[in-house]
Amino acid sequence: MRKKFICQVIILSGILTACAGNAGKSRGIDESKVSVESSITSVESKESREVTDLKVVKKNVTASQEETTVPESAKETFAAPETATETAKAKEESTKPVEETSKKEENSKKEENFKKGADSNQVDSNQTKEIGLDSGWEYASFSKINSGKAVLYKAGQNGNGITIAVNAGHGTKGGSSQKTLCHPDGSAKVTSGTTKAGATTAIAVSEGMTFSDGTPESTATFEMAKVLKDELLSRGYNVLMIRDGNDVQLDNIARTVIANNNSSAHIALHWDSTSSNKGAFYMGVPDVASYKSMEPVASNWKKHEALGKSLINGLSQNGTKIFSKGRMEMDLTQTSYSTIPSIDIELGDKTSDHGKDTLRILSKGIADGIDSYFGR
Ligand SMILES: [Zn+2]
Repeated sequence: MRKKFICQVIILSGILTACAGNAGKSRGIDESKVSVESSITSVESKESREVTDLKVVKKNVTASQEETTVPESAKETFAAPETATETAKAKEESTKPVEETSKKEENSKKEENFKKGADSNQVDSNQTKEIGLDSGWEYASFSKINSGKAVLYKAGQNGNGITIAVNAGHGTKGGSSQKTLCHPDGSAKVTSGTTKAGATTAIAVSEGMTFSDGTPESTATFEMAKVLKDELLSRGYNVLMIRDGNDVQLDNIARTVIANNNSSAHIALHWDSTSSNKGAFYMGVPDVASYKSMEPVASNWKKHEALGKSLINGLSQNGTKIFSKGRMEMDLTQTSYSTIPSIDIELGDKTSDHGKDTLRILSKGIADGIDSYFGR
């Protein structure tokens, strides 16, 4: 019985093996066909999914870019960070609570899509955040006027992770009735400008000049800042608007310290007080040993000079008239407290054109200079 059973099993398995062999041969082709077809289907569906995702992301980028032109509502969604920790925390949060629930949902959808679409990019959408002076930051205690807030605009999907502090010169009511130390070590000013050489204190924020057409310098610098902000955002930079309105209650030290702690480079926009349409130049670090050996100038003056040269090259290449060699030495409060590459750029003087078209050309020149400085 056992023998017979074994024989039957052997015969049966022989038949099955033979059948399986044939079936395998003919099925082999079908299977490969099926597998090719199914992978085509899966590629197709993946592609169409990616296209859909891309569309969603693109739509949101456009939507958020539009939002930058209406900063008032967006600004309200951010509480001003009071401490460094809070600032860092606020930085991490790319979506903040807003007044309306629908907007909240829209924002969370937006973030989800950005995460899906471009993990590698610094994608925070073009949101804004107010940043005030933190009393714990180095040199903050030298400031006298610091109740105002700078506003950080984040680049969209094309973000490169570099933040530029755009400082619209002047525009601080009451700024000329306060005085601050020229240098953090209390030493005297080495060149004469708005404040004479030898002085140890300077006006906290001067009022600036008035153009020959009656425009206050602070109005032109703010217009310039807004045009430059848009140009830089379009190139992927985050922009820290030190003054994001006609007035900001931040003196030159507060502006500098905020830039030091929240950006990669600080560019202050000015026009000079002469009336010869002499062209653009940057305020170079005075070649005075005692000044160049004082911190934080000692550790940073070479960076200031390199940035200044890049900006002048960019402006020149875009057709802007340059004064002399594009440089004038000046002992500035800004330079004296800067711990990042930092420049005061004078874009012309009282008689220079400051219409929209000129501002656009200037913004391209400055942005080209920034690109070149950061090797982009
Ligand atoms: Zn000025």
